[in-house]
Amino acid sequence: MAKNDSKSLELVYKVWQDLREHFETNDRSESIETVVSVLSDSGHSSQDIHDVFQNDPEFDRIVSLFFEEDVNRDNKGKLRLSAVGKEDRKLWYDYHGYDKEPLGTDTRIKFCFGNLLEAFVLLLVKEAGHKVTECQKEVTVGEVKGHIDCLIDGELVDVKSASPYGFKKFKDGSILKGDDPFGYMYQLSSYGKALKKKIGYFLSIDKSGGGLNLLEVPLDRVDPVQRIGYLKEIMPHELPPSRCYEEVRESSGNRKIGFNCKYCDFKAECWKDSNNGQGLRKYNYARGPEYFTHVQREPRVEEDFF
Ligand code: SF4
Repeated sequence: MAKNDSKSLELVYKVWQDLREHFETNDRSESIETVVSVLSDSGHSSQDIHDVFQNDPEFDRIVSLFFEEDVNRDNKGKLRLSAVGKEDRKLWYDYHGYDKEPLGTDTRIKFCFGNLLEAFVLLLVKEAGHKVTECQKEVTVGEVKGHIDCLIDGELVDVKSASPYGFKKFKDGSILKGDDPFGYMYQLSSYGKALKKKIGYFLSIDKSGGGLNLLEVPLDRVDPVQRIGYLKEIMPHELPPSRCYEEVRESSGNRKIGFNCKYCDFKAECWKDSNNGQGLRKYNYARGPEYFTHVQREPRVEEDFF
């Protein structure tokens, strides 16, 4: 390990030592996982991290898990309760081990920030005098495993950090009416099924504005057992299920992928037959990139070959 690399690791360790005072043991795992994934992404090996964090058994355990099992990203041949509500085709690519788009450091930091915020929300709940138990308890439905966030005063609660756009779905309850692209209703309902609960709660925080919301969720709106049975049947198929979303047509005659596909890790593979077999074409607009499936009129912005 180069001297500067060692210094940056030592700095991360010092920051972590300060931060850890603010989290109880049960809340730390996800934050440590994210820190470890950022360090791994920056080229630090398992040995480097073990050397610098050697006095911290929690870090030691998660570093070992991360490097031995690649806990965060490799879902080949696996289903997880946290993902059973996701789109069929997206899950199929994941189940079959297709390469995901690499996470940029900005995305990893965003995840880290989200995890820290969620731990912070639980800290506030405890400070307010509520009893937080069963954090990260493993549960199983139809042989598919998952981990609940926690019980608060005995009630099933899933903590979510969300963008202002995502937060609105919790606040106005539209997530209960099907506006749920991440499949959170199936996730919470499967935990409820495992714990024999009829009601659960989303405790959400707006990452930008800091607003908090507690949404009561009847857990009979979706059927996780039926969903898991269906997924187990279709996942091993040789061909992927049909696409989850249609293309978006523009008045110019151009067609592009929609919002949910734009953020999908498998978009390049999924749409590789677009543009007459050329695959997606990415153009960098001021509002962010757009991915075209058919270009009739060349957009007046730079094309980015990805
Ligand atoms: S790119 Fe869109 S259609 Fe394809 S798997 Fe992802 S979400 Fe589904």
